[in-house]
Amino acid sequence: MSQVWNVLLLSVIAGLGTGLGGLIAIVRKPGRRSFGLLMGIAAGVMISLAFMELVSEAWKMAGYLTATLGFAAGALFMLAIDMLIPHMRFGEKEGIGQQPEASSPEDCDCNAETPGRHGHRGRRQRRGWFGKTSAPLDRMLLKTGVLIAIGITIHNMPEGIAVGASYAHQPQFGYFIAMAIALHNIPEGIATALPLCKAGARKRDAFRIALLSGLTEPVGAMLAIFFLSAFRDLVPAALAFAGGVMIFITLDELVPAAREHGHQHWTAIGIILGAIFVFVLSGIFGV
Ligand SMILES: [Zn+2]
Repeated sequence: MSQVWNVLLLSVIAGLGTGLGGLIAIVRKPGRRSFGLLMGIAAGVMISLAFMELVSEAWKMAGYLTATLGFAAGALFMLAIDMLIPHMRFGEKEGIGQQPEASSPEDCDCNAETPGRHGHRGRRQRRGWFGKTSAPLDRMLLKTGVLIAIGITIHNMPEGIAVGASYAHQPQFGYFIAMAIALHNIPEGIATALPLCKAGARKRDAFRIALLSGLTEPVGAMLAIFFLSAFRDLVPAALAFAGGVMIFITLDELVPAAREHGHQHWTAIGIILGAIFVFVLSGIFGV
């Protein structure tokens, strides 16, 4: 039973990274270059975690077939979810330009040169969830908030699964994965809060949503630990599956979001830094 509590605690700590990111976003909004760098770090952490740790661990435990099938299943699953469920990606700013001018001092002041102001190419706007709506600000914000929340849940649940599966594999491995994901979540929290600010949300609401967004991770972690304590043989497949999901999300969402505002070199440097962070952390944890 203590393992359930440990996993809960670990995944909450990992999830709190987004709250920290949200706080950073409203206290001192990063410029475009820093945004590219930070999102690059988030991507680099995920890529190296997925390949070097999750998939490789599955490979060592259960052979190449399990690792390959688990990885492919995770990536395909994510592709299907991505196509079937309407949601917003990180850094998307649907509905910009429709909101009335923000005037209260409570409002975010990040309307000026928030990253991506000109970079938004309308990806996913084809879904038509926003676009021409003339709904009042509140409704639009609510819609934006709901879509962002769905996007984040889709994104963060698998990270929780990664924490749960890693812990089921080996507690020390779980600690390591949780720490890496906590760091990865800081830029994600920033990317969650910024578009909300831009859409006219209050600072404290943007922070609150960023904070709550990370707390979907414990849900994934709990599902994983309960499921895997009943089916221990599936631990390697679950690790590889989480790896596949994370690689898909990173390539499909994080890297494009990071590069959306130019400064590609900074994104590349960020990816390298994120990978180095994982290497060092892996060394420290001895996993
Ligand atoms: Zn993430």
